Amino acid sequence: MTNQANQGDLEIDPSLLKAFLNELHSQYKPLREGAVANYIPELAKVNPDLFSICIVTVDGQVYKVGDYEQLFTIQSISKVFAYGLALEDHGLDYVLTRVGVEPTGDAFNAIILDEQSKRPYNPMVNAGAIATTSLIKGSGPTERLNRMLDMFRGYIGRDVFVDILAFTSERSTGHRNRAMAHLMLNFGMIDRNIEEALDLYFQQCAVMVNCQDLAVMAATLANKGVNPITNKQAVDKRYIKDILSVMYTCGMYNFAGEWAYKIGLPAKSGICGGIIAVVPHKMGIGVFSPLLDVRGNSVRGVKVCEELSQRLGLHLFECQGKGENKQSDYKENAENY
Ligand code: GLU
Repeated sequence: MTNQANQGDLEIDPSLLKAFLNELHSQYKPLREGAVANYIPELAKVNPDLFSICIVTVDGQVYKVGDYEQLFTIQSISKVFAYGLALEDHGLDYVLTRVGVEPTGDAFNAIILDEQSKRPYNPMVNAGAIATTSLIKGSGPTERLNRMLDMFRGYIGRDVFVDILAFTSERSTGHRNRAMAHLMLNFGMIDRNIEEALDLYFQQCAVMVNCQDLAVMAATLANKGVNPITNKQAVDKRYIKDILSVMYTCGMYNFAGEWAYKIGLPAKSGICGGIIAVVPHKMGIGVFSPLLDVRGNSVRGVKVCEELSQRLGLHLFECQGKGENKQSDYKENAENY
């Protein structure tokens, strides 16, 4: 596809979009608020200055700035994609018997289950993600891990691997997740050997990605499950609406409501400092910056997504005409940059 076609899709001039990303990067690079996650010892070693922004459109155009090649562990962002695999393996009705779709308003690692159903609230918090991962089919741990990695390869479009140091670091310290798994075993929400389920969950969290990968993964969700770079189907398109709905309501920890209100895009963040946001039928956004706010969201990541949404008029419920939204401010700013 040409830039012309891309311009039509986004209704944004590609050179201005590139300038806008550069501007956002320069604007927020000096921001030093927040702290890196340290409850998993390996994560505490990350360089807090790292910062990158990437946009991939559904026709495969890539816009990127900053440390976009820097690898990091995907952490909670993996929950979105593992949920897709569980849906493909079992269908929505069965998965719903094990994991709900209600936002919690509590922290991602809260040890709570729904009082009535005993299900974890949703697949985006740790309890729900562990239950989801325990549903991945396979004849044993190796096959399940390989299926999980193949799934990530489809979304990312290249080979992927697990960071062994991050995996073992979390395995030896993840007692809270272990407690949740025991609680769910008690209520019959997990039937498999829980140490195996936890290992697969910790491995999925330790898959290495970069910021550009995040944007490609988000763009794949924006593009009916087809990776816009490889043109291969990464997930059955019938589940896209289920995945995006749960991202929209539950993806940003206990900031999900305010995020939906202000930014208005399905998204998921991880304590690695990554955020993905999906603009359906248009593009995927990836931001990486490891300094986190108290809820676990990247401080710079939230600011960047807020600006992108406002100034490009990306909120899903935006009603202003194309010329009326803040794109005009963005153009002025980009031209001044
Ligand atoms: N592996 C992390 C955990 O389970 C992921 C948390 C996150 O990114 O929100 O605690």
